[in-house]
Amino acid sequence: MFQNLTERLESAFKQIKGEGRITELNIAATVKDIRRALVDADVNYKIAKEFTDKIKDEAMGQKVITAVSPGQLMVKIVKDELVALMGGSESELQSKGNPAVILIAGLQGSGKTTFSAKLANYLKTKKGLSPLLVAADIYRPAAIDQLKVLGEQIGVDVYSEPENKNAVQIAENAVKEARSKNKNVIIIDTAGRLAVDEQMMTEVANVKSAVKPNEILFVVDSMTGQDAVNTAKAFNDRLDFTGVVLTKLDGDTRGGAALSIKYTVEKPIKFVSSGEKMDTLDVFYPERMAQRILGMGDITTLVEKAQAQFDEEQAKKLEKKIRKNQFDLSDFKQQLEQIKKMGNIKDLLGMIPGVGKAVKDIDISDDAFKGIEALINSMTPEERANPDILDARRKTRIAKGAGKSMDELNGFLKQFEQMKNMMKMMNKMPMGRMGLGRR
Ligand code: GDP
Repeated sequence: MFQNLTERLESAFKQIKGEGRITELNIAATVKDIRRALVDADVNYKIAKEFTDKIKDEAMGQKVITAVSPGQLMVKIVKDELVALMGGSESELQSKGNPAVILIAGLQGSGKTTFSAKLANYLKTKKGLSPLLVAADIYRPAAIDQLKVLGEQIGVDVYSEPENKNAVQIAENAVKEARSKNKNVIIIDTAGRLAVDEQMMTEVANVKSAVKPNEILFVVDSMTGQDAVNTAKAFNDRLDFTGVVLTKLDGDTRGGAALSIKYTVEKPIKFVSSGEKMDTLDVFYPERMAQRILGMGDITTLVEKAQAQFDEEQAKKLEKKIRKNQFDLSDFKQQLEQIKKMGNIKDLLGMIPGVGKAVKDIDISDDAFKGIEALINSMTPEERANPDILDARRKTRIAKGAGKSMDELNGFLKQFEQMKNMMKMMNKMPMGRMGLGRR
């Protein structure tokens, strides 16, 4: 995410890193590079200029403290300003009501339907609410089907009236349906067009007046950069929405939308969506995003994702096995499954400070573990528990079953052996034992 911007900012900071003190001259050079980096990331020039002017003023006004180098000071100033530019602190979703009504608007293809389902999933699993999804796209019958498929996937009911061509009526009926079925929040997925158009705006505005939403979320594809910002402005002028959702942050996004939208429409970004899977939705935290942009990683999100998947019982069992040196291939497979549940592997690695840059050109797809899993799947439970019994005959069978070569199987077994040896060593170290035993 925002890899290019991160690199450009890093190289801007390099200018001042070696300097003993902040001077008008070295600040000017750094600030100019920062401004260029922002403009190239598709941040509007006016915003980039205002941003860097602030940074310049801040930096010049700083007292020189010997404990902090000018480089560190600049990074801190830029980080604080990035946080401010993206809205300061996070903005909570209002989801209380009888039912609470959340209206979803945006252009066609922006990711509205996908987001609607993700939001329902989030409210259900993280907030313990009982959501109802409403398909109010009266122009594309396929949109209703799409929402139904997603609803089924996450176990959330979908309300639709395929024959009705009146979105206002559908929305009003959905509110009644929610009340009668004890649903406490409804999410209305409205129709989108390929470009901002009067009929679409009137329709959403009418739905808004009829059902008085607690939240109107404007969904925008972050890959569209400056266009995203212009579309946001058009929707906001008409709808006065309450928050923004940035989608497709898993793609090759430059960052312009994330950095300029709050400034332009004065509405907070509430969620970011980064994938097609239902659990790839995150609350937007300006502070964490600023850290990621500056290559400082985002350990907080990483830890939260790990905690969400953490199974105390399983961890204890595993710990015992490691201590007794009984960690086998079935355990290994289980661990891989847990990691995969946390999300896109490359994104996860990118949250560790400094690692994002190191892995940027390496192809780590979600399928990275598929080969290993196929090999383990081809083994019998007995073989997984005790790989030592693998003779040539068994190995041939396993490799063939997994569609892998003998070299790949041997390579993997060797790696697994090395991993076990390392665990053994850690068990012998007093520190390792302390760490493992304390939990
Ligand atoms: P709508 O027309 O606004 O309802 O958009 P859809 O929800 O149908 O999304 C359009 C396309 O973008 C679909 O192929 C989605 O699978 C895809 N999509 C939606 N959100 C994301 C996202 O966060 N990341 C990626 N990579 N694709 C997304």
